[in-house]
Amino acid sequence: MNENEPADGEERAGNQAERGQAQDSPGASRFHNEVNELYPHEDSGGHLGNLLTDLGEKNLYDAAAQCNRCGYCETSCPTYMLTGRETISARGRNQFVRMLVEGRAKDPDQAAESLSTCLLCGACSSVCYAKVATPDIVLEGRRSLTGYGEGFFARAAVAGLLNAPKLFGFWLKLAYLAKRTGLPRLAARMGLYDFIGMPGLAEAESSIERAPLRFAAELLRKDPALAPGGKRGVNWAYFAACGPNYVFTETALATVRVLKRSAGDGVFMDSQCCGLLAHNYGRLEDAREFARRNIARYEELKAEAGDFPVIADCSSCAAFMKSYEQLFTGDEQWRPRARAFAAAVKDILEFIRPDQAPPAGPAAEKAGRVTYHDSCRACHGQGIRLEPRAVLRKLAGKQYRELPESDWCCGGAGAFAFTQPELSGMVLDRKLRHIASVQADTVVVGATSCLAQIGSGLRKAYPTARAVHYSVFLDEMSGDNAKIIP
Ligand code: SF4
Ligand code: SF4
Repeated sequence: MNENEPADGEERAGNQAERGQAQDSPGASRFHNEVNELYPHEDSGGHLGNLLTDLGEKNLYDAAAQCNRCGYCETSCPTYMLTGRETISARGRNQFVRMLVEGRAKDPDQAAESLSTCLLCGACSSVCYAKVATPDIVLEGRRSLTGYGEGFFARAAVAGLLNAPKLFGFWLKLAYLAKRTGLPRLAARMGLYDFIGMPGLAEAESSIERAPLRFAAELLRKDPALAPGGKRGVNWAYFAACGPNYVFTETALATVRVLKRSAGDGVFMDSQCCGLLAHNYGRLEDAREFARRNIARYEELKAEAGDFPVIADCSSCAAFMKSYEQLFTGDEQWRPRARAFAAAVKDILEFIRPDQAPPAGPAAEKAGRVTYHDSCRACHGQGIRLEPRAVLRKLAGKQYRELPESDWCCGGAGAFAFTQPELSGMVLDRKLRHIASVQADTVVVGATSCLAQIGSGLRKAYPTARAVHYSVFLDEMSGDNAKIIP
């Protein structure tokens, strides 16, 4: 533990961040403004206007000041529990942001570390009586970090997805071809990624087991049953999030098969990235543009086909799309449109009812002991806990096991595993120990980041178990998973 950080006990009471800041900064500011005021470029669109919290619409300062430093969330915060450091707890982070807004933060490096290490999991908000929106508050703080969102990969990925998705897909396929040659793994073993200062690339490479050479959208566009084509009265529209589209293609195809079986006729929305990558990595204006395009696509389909739910199979993306309104709090034209779109979004985890799931059959026996990991943006972000469990209990019967600390983050958290590999590894170890404690053979998850992180961890530490997406599991249980998509 850092000697400048608090010992355990009530005495720390949330003021550690403030005390730490009393020291003079040895280095240059890591925030846009030398005196650390958080909003020097508020007019540039680089920040959200207001936050939409459970206690109403609030500006950032009021939202952060809502934290009364009670510490009730401390034992729910993975980064605090694994390090014992107050500055990387929810209380410490809210305190830093408040001081940044006040221009009182004296050690920008410490504030930057506090904000950069948050998993954005939302476990703190779930247990907080005041429902302090810590992940959104942390992100607002990060948006003031010098260079945040200007990293090569964040810029290239967002620009590619937004302006040249075909070119983005082409480069991704080239990277996947290279992966199949084994060269990236060799580079990782030789320490090349460490040498170029990007150790996270080795993690990224190892988290993808099978690299697809055809993306889900390419396959779904060819399915005539999913074409809008003037259809009226469809029951669902499938939104292909980037994870299922570009990486876990089998998840996207399984979701569509499950939807066809359980809910009948639907369409492929053929939209764009939800914008979460841009939102979380400092490119807010780009996130707004992704949102506007998806909202417009939804409205266009709705004009043709009437009301329908938009189904997403990555909980992070579903949760983000449900929060689109927050991107447009100062925009009278787009705000109501974003609210209407958000109301139509459903996570596949909440959409399938137990009576729509097939009865437990021989496929369930092959799955062995089944457990469920709550993806953060499903349980903390959308309040989805009971629905998938009801379905899984029906499918797995007595083979279902409840996972201890199932709603703790797995350490994937978008690109967290690549940007904070050490902390991410500590969080993952705890998850893997719990999976081993229930002797699970199958770990069902609902977000692609969890699928990559837990899958990669299991392959290294517990190879008799596998991580599987909820849609793929439901599809497997139906026993006819090749028959619906050509
Ligand atoms: S975020 Fe909520 S639970 Fe945590 S210290 Fe602040 S007020 Fe208490
Ligand atoms: S979002 Fe997660 S990591 Fe961040 S402060 Fe809250 S509980 Fe801790």
